[in-house]
Amino acid sequence: MVAAAGIHPNDVAEVEPDEWDRITRLVVSGRVAAIGETGLDWYRESAPRDVQREFFDRHIRLAQSLGLPLVVHTRDSIRDTLDTLREARARGPLAPVLHAFTGSADEAAEAVELGCCLGFAGMLTFRSAANLRQVAATVPADRLLIETDSPFLSPEPLRGRRNEPGHVVHTARCLAIARGVSLERLAADTTANARRVFLRR
Ligand SMILES: [Zn+2]
Repeated sequence: MVAAAGIHPNDVAEVEPDEWDRITRLVVSGRVAAIGETGLDWYRESAPRDVQREFFDRHIRLAQSLGLPLVVHTRDSIRDTLDTLREARARGPLAPVLHAFTGSADEAAEAVELGCCLGFAGMLTFRSAANLRQVAATVPADRLLIETDSPFLSPEPLRGRRNEPGHVVHTARCLAIARGVSLERLAADTTANARRVFLRR
């Protein structure tokens, strides 16, 4: 098991004075595989936008300086998130993962062009998510990830219950059907992608 370290955008208004230093020390110790979650949340806005932007930028620069992947949270903020990642890419290499992706096909294509992997979580399985399944079918196989986001976002048929990592099989099955591939093929691809992104050191 490996960990990511970061300060979630919903929490950046309540950061302790030494918290960023602690994150940095943890990351430099080599015991974490990724930086994040970080990003922009214009839905909850539990922190001012300029504070969220400042911390997103800090996480991006830390990930770039150490060559670590960046786990990105984006909610009602995909345009600003993609613009920020584009600016970062102009400065140097960056390997972002857009987690629990819910954007459009155009936004998915733009994210792929920017070098992102796209993570699909339990909401992919919801009856109301036909559009998202169509989007997920357009993502190149080498950029796909599946995730639990447990204890949240339980997939059908377990929606509303506490989520567990093992429930990701329901998301995988749904994604395989949407893409017209076998569950085995989908599992092999997403496993290889996760290893490439998170276990490269
Ligand atoms: Zn998130």
